[in-house]
Amino acid sequence: MNDAFLDKRRDLALCALCPGYCAASCPVLDATGNSALSPGAKIALLQEIVVGHRRLDESAARVLFACTGCGRCAEVCPSRVDVPELLRRARAVCAEEGESPSGVERLRTRMAQTGNPFGADLSVLSRALSDDGEGRVYFPGCTALAREQDFVRGAIDAAAGFNLRLTLTEMSASCCGYPLFAAGLVSEFTEHARAFARRVDHLSEFVVGDPGCMVAFTRLYRKVGVELRARPVFILKLLEDRLDHAFGRAPLSLRLTYHEACKLRCELDCRDAPRRLLRAAVGDFRDSTPETSACSGGGGLISWSHPDIAADLVALQRSLLDGKSQGIVTACPSALHRFHSAGLKAVDLYSVLARWIAFRDGDL
Ligand code: SF4
Ligand code: SF4
Repeated sequence: MNDAFLDKRRDLALCALCPGYCAASCPVLDATGNSALSPGAKIALLQEIVVGHRRLDESAARVLFACTGCGRCAEVCPSRVDVPELLRRARAVCAEEGESPSGVERLRTRMAQTGNPFGADLSVLSRALSDDGEGRVYFPGCTALAREQDFVRGAIDAAAGFNLRLTLTEMSASCCGYPLFAAGLVSEFTEHARAFARRVDHLSEFVVGDPGCMVAFTRLYRKVGVELRARPVFILKLLEDRLDHAFGRAPLSLRLTYHEACKLRCELDCRDAPRRLLRAAVGDFRDSTPETSACSGGGGLISWSHPDIAADLVALQRSLLDGKSQGIVTACPSALHRFHSAGLKAVDLYSVLARWIAFRDGDL
């Protein structure tokens, strides 16, 4: 166990000495009220395991997996301790020792059998949404393809309104492999990333819809030594750059609340683009704040390892829907899927933009 943390002993020691300045930022602690699941407590447990004072068993593994990977603790930590990375390494050790939670093992099997966490035939779904057109190759991500197809259609329609044609091809029908990385399955993730790199080798670039996939392509692939020859371009940035194409259109009368996805905020630092686009498209748009926009429970595999906590996390998001708001708007398909699973009224940012371009006003 020690070897995996040799370069992180300083961080482990800092957390052990810290009163837990990051605790208030952790959505898991917020949802459960369980102080054993605060970021500092999880790292203190990890420290005990690393120095051999505690065994890595099933109950310890459950604590180490009780994290959405949202990155909010790292954002506020005065010592710049990267808790999500420490927990990701701990998950790799759990996987090696066969102690990953059963839900994560089910995910591993499904990834091995079908190449995506939904067990879906992504090629069939992608072909059904394809228009056979010529355009820039679009990679929506498997969550959108398998669970939130309006997200895919909305992006294609919104891009068309910004004079940008997107096309789904055979490469669109795959998963970036992020779930394997989040599960700590590093060698499986590396193999998946290599196979993906071969699939896009003939392209110079491709457009990416899912912020989690964008993080995988731009950061995680590099971590495991896989370089993509094709350049991933994030759709939000493309549309923001073309906002002037839609200049002069009146905003919709929708009243929406923006949910800022963790990956956009903490890992891609993409904060302005969605807000600029929303400001243009929606007359009455309520911005989220760290208090009103916590994690939806869509990341870090928490819906696989701890479905009960994931349900509590999304239930907290009901506060986004006060009497003044008609729905939640987000640019993350995983968050959208969590909201829809909980019966909350939610829509993806791209469908809103497509409505704005076509001026289809009215209720959601
Ligand atoms: S992550 Fe930072 S703020 Fe949180 S317990 Fe560790 S040292 Fe303290
Ligand atoms: S990454 Fe998010 S969920 Fe995980 S410990 Fe930090 S604040 Fe909590």
